This record gives sequence, structure tokens and C-alpha cells, in this order.
Amino acid sequence: EITIHQVSKSFGHLKVLDDVTLSVAAGSVTAILGQSGSGKSTLLRAINHLERVDDGFIAIDGELVGYRQEGDTLYELKERDILRRRIEIGMVFQTFNLFPHLTALENVIEAPMAVRGIGRAEAEAEAHDLLARVGLADKALAYPRQLSGGQQQRVAIARALALKPKVLLFDEPTSALDPELVNEVLDVIKELARSGTTLVIVTHEIGFAREVADQVVFMERGRVLETGTPEKVFNRPDHVRTAEFLAKVL
Ligand code: ATP
Ligand code: MG
Repeated sequence: EITIHQVSKSFGHLKVLDDVTLSVAAGSVTAILGQSGSGKSTLLRAINHLERVDDGFIAIDGELVGYRQEGDTLYELKERDILRRRIEIGMVFQTFNLFPHLTALENVIEAPMAVRGIGRAEAEAEAHDLLARVGLADKALAYPRQLSGGQQQRVAIARALALKPKVLLFDEPTSALDPELVNEVLDVIKELARSGTTLVIVTHEIGFAREVADQVVFMERGRVLETGTPEKVFNRPDHVRTAEFLAKVL
């Protein structure tokens, strides 16, 4: 469960997040839509404390992200504790960022061995299971350059899952892919959604959002303009701006 409470963030004079309040139920899927520059990536990065917020707070399962509270005051956690907490929040980016000199299997086992401190045999067994889950059982020994974009992105998803995150954040996971490779990645994400992983996905794939999301969020200029079920937001939006945006992307 993710709680985002009255979060604001500026870069210089530009208010990139403006009083954002949002909650994401455990096991649910939230799709975030909005124009370029509306603050979607910044919001995702804030959930992971890759961006420090200026105001408000974010909590996961009731535990503050990036801060601890003493009385009425919030203190930022030490780097080591930030990193430890970040393990609970998996992130998959538009570009896959795999280690080019490591095989698919090695990419997946690297973090669990370094961070969860498990041994190689156990890490490899888990990694084989995860690669099978994303449909890549036969690609364990392939290097990223030997894989298609869609396959690389699925390795990146397996790698994120290897840390057993409480929530998984996706920032436009298919927008760098050739059109014919988009569905193989969306199918993996759909399978994660069915299995009850808490997902937050920034995406322009409206059909996917309509089918999979429990909650759709429309952002504009750093604000959450509209939230609701896909049925509500896509068919009967409250704001004319949402309708205009949808008319453009549909
Ligand atoms: P896109 O759809 O293009 O990915 P977005 O909705 O993800 O857009 P953000 O990346 O969150 O938008 O950026 C929101 C605004 O904040 C933009 O105007 C961007 O230029 C600005 N911004 C983002 N990161 C920084 C930064 N590190 N320093 C200054 N400005 C930034
Ligand atoms: Mg972005």
C-alpha cells in the first residue's frame, strides 16, 4: 500500500509536483497518464526517494519513505538506510539499463547476492524461476546485445522482481520498444498484476490501462487532475483537460 500525502516538489521556480495526494492499495494496479513534463517520472522517482520531496510525505505500508519521524519533525534517513528501504521498491525504466557485460542470469542474480546476501546457488535457482516467469527460460546465458528490446525489458523486470519488492514502479516500460515487441512486455506486466503485485505504471498504452488498471490517474502540470476507475476516467472524465488529452492519445 502506497500513501502519497500532499507532496510538492520544485526544481528552481518550476513546481513539478503540486500538492499530490494519492493512495495505491496493496495488490492493485495504478496507471499514471499525462502529457510530457506533467511530473509523472518525478512522482515515481519520489516514491523511491530518488527525488527528495519539498513538502508532504510518502509512505509504503505505513512506513515513511526516506524519512523517520520524531515528534512533529521529519529527519531524512542516512544513505545506507535509504538504500535498504529502496530494495522494497522495484523500478523498471524506459531504457532497460542491463549490465552489458553480464548474461541475463548474471544480471538477475547480481542484486540479490549483493543486497539480500544470498548465496550464488540460491540466487541462480531463483533467477531461473524468474526468467521462466517472464518467458525467457532459454535465454539465461544470453548477453543483452543478443536479446531483442522486449527480451531485455523482460530481463529487467525479472531483475527487479529478484529483490522481492513490495511494490513495482514502471516508467513507460514499453515506449522504447518497436511496436511488435510491446505486447510481450505488457503480457508479463499483466501476469504480475494478476498475481497480486502492487504496480504503478506510467504509460501511454491506453488499451492496457483500460484492461489492467484498477485506478487511473491523470496528471497535469504537477497536479493530479483526476483519479478513478478506467471506466470512469476514460468514459466520463470530470475534467475537460482529461478528455482533451485522451482524444489526442487514443
Ligand atoms: P515525460 O512524459 O516526457 O517523461 P514526465 O511527466 O515524466 O514527462 P517529469 O520528467 O517528471 O515529466 O518532469 C516534470 C518537469 O520537471 C519537466 O518540466 C522537467 O523538465 C522538470 N525536471 C525534471 N527533472 C528535473 C531536474 N533534475 N532538474 C530540473 N528540472 C527537472
Ligand atoms: Mg517521464
